[in-house]
Amino acid sequence: MQEAKVRLYVEQPLGPGQPVTLEREQAHYLFNVMRLQPGDAVLLFNGREGEWRASVEDAGKRGGTLACTERTRPLQPPPDLWLLFAPVKKARTDFIVEKAVELGVARIQPVQTAHTNSERIRPDRLRAHAVEAAEQCGATVVPEVADLVSLDRLLSNWPDGRRILWADESRVGAPAVLTKAARAGRGSWAILIGPEGGFSQAERARLLARAEVTPISLGPRILRADTAAVAAITLWQAHLGDWA
Ligand code: SAM
Repeated sequence: MQEAKVRLYVEQPLGPGQPVTLEREQAHYLFNVMRLQPGDAVLLFNGREGEWRASVEDAGKRGGTLACTERTRPLQPPPDLWLLFAPVKKARTDFIVEKAVELGVARIQPVQTAHTNSERIRPDRLRAHAVEAAEQCGATVVPEVADLVSLDRLLSNWPDGRRILWADESRVGAPAVLTKAARAGRGSWAILIGPEGGFSQAERARLLARAEVTPISLGPRILRADTAAVAAITLWQAHLGDWA
């Protein structure tokens, strides 16, 4: 069977014989950039029905049609982990989104903290990055990328039962381990990473006062926010996620 060179996220349903109409940009990518021809194979996923092999039926300049042939992988949703992070510079924010998708999170939530510059964020761009990362890494679900929300508002409406692993820079130097109690807490989690300037005193007090918050160290050095996001997701995944 011919190997598929392209993996695409689509919003349409996928199933045996299901036709999939391509948007203009997708058709441009498949037929002008990747030079696919009728009969060539493509892998598709939509976040609901797993991954499907499809073949090119009709290749046009501004559009095209694929037809699903067989399911190649079942749906494998990421663990119920949210990444809450304060946006940093553009390229580093893009990196955080890309790595969060690859490492495996269900939701990416940009958070405005006291020391965050919120002008740095474009949710549509971040969503496009999440789609690209999912296409590239073999994920069958694209994590939701939520709009920016203030930390105050987020904590005021926090869902019952979801725990927060807070990367607390004031614990630098403490062992970077999840406590036994945290390791016992399988289920819904979020990781919280601060901005370049760290958390304010008021934010720290508010976080420390909440029962669902577990502060952690990420080792003996101060990490940049993007490194901290990767390190914290890795730590969580190794103990509580789908790597464990
Ligand atoms: N300006 C802050 C300071 O000097 O203390 C550092 C902020 S750091 C660049 C950005 C975020 O990464 C922090 O708010 C925290 O969430 C996380 N972080 C970085 N290094 C960490 C560490 N060693 N332990 C825990 N969290 C860390």
